[in-house]
Amino acid sequence: MRSQTELDRMLAKMTKDYATLNKKQQADAIRNIGRVKGEMSYLLADYADNDGIIDRRRISRVMRDMDGIERIIREDSSESFDKIIEDTAEWTTAKIVTALGVAWTAGFIMRTNERIATSVKNRRGSDLLQLSDRVWDLSGGMRDELTQVVRSSIIRGESVSQMIPKIRKVHDNETWKIRRLAVTEGNTAYRKGTAYNASQSGSVKWVQFHDGTCGHRDHFRHKCYELVNEDWYGQGAGIFKPSDDEILSPHPNCTSYISYVLDERYL
Ligand SMILES: [Zn+2]
Repeated sequence: MRSQTELDRMLAKMTKDYATLNKKQQADAIRNIGRVKGEMSYLLADYADNDGIIDRRRISRVMRDMDGIERIIREDSSESFDKIIEDTAEWTTAKIVTALGVAWTAGFIMRTNERIATSVKNRRGSDLLQLSDRVWDLSGGMRDELTQVVRSSIIRGESVSQMIPKIRKVHDNETWKIRRLAVTEGNTAYRKGTAYNASQSGSVKWVQFHDGTCGHRDHFRHKCYELVNEDWYGQGAGIFKPSDDEILSPHPNCTSYISYVLDERYL
């Protein structure tokens, strides 16, 4: 068994490494969901004449095709965020297995990762929404924006090449939502992975909750700041059980993390 100091250092390092991995996950999600830009140009090219102009009498047919566009955004989003959650669960468990020095079989690890991913995907936020609801919101919102841009461009007699930069801008304007979801889902999977593996290990009875380093001026208003200062069990501030759901997803965009308090401290 490692010492408490060693383990603390490992978890802090792991959290830093996860922040780096999550940055890449955000960029991947933005790129994957950006596939819609190409799909939109194919669709518009289908309706355009040789000058790249779409006859306004075809507008309702173009609008009907936007159903397909929304479906593409929804599928790409859903796939991207599922992948972030699954990859994070896998990454976290692999690191924790090393940190705790547990001897788990490949099958056990696989089932563990599935459980972590499923619980993250199915959880409900304080607004009672699940990830799939957020994905529907995101894709519906993007479709609305794209529809508006295309409709007004066709009515104004603009060419497809004039529409493309506007379509790109719609995606750019939505990237903060994609980024926020990637941060929220990824970090929740990271915390859930840390907490769930702790319960499975049998050697970690308590965990220490650390607030994120979001750098917001109003950080003291965040739920994670509140939790760090709470002492539910008389074990000290920020000490929780690995099974406490409250520490898994304190608020959107939260980068808080969980470290382990080894039982030996209480022996
Ligand atoms: Zn936070």
